[in-house]
Amino acid sequence: MTSIQTLTGECPECETGVTTPPIEVGETMGCPECMLTLRVEGISEGVLDLRMVEVQLRDWGE
Ligand SMILES: [Zn+2]
Repeated sequence: MTSIQTLTGECPECETGVTTPPIEVGETMGCPECMLTLRVEGISEGVLDLRMVEVQLRDWGE
């Protein structure tokens, strides 16, 4: 049998603990608390190293 492991991490912005199904380095996820987009920079023993992604808004005016 295969047990599905979940990974845990902490939002660098609001310090909320987040849990996610297996995810790979480079993928992004959303913080359930502050809705920030977080990218997985690394995974160490089931713990995610999350970094905030600077979402570039197109501010070209209307
Ligand atoms: Zn957050």
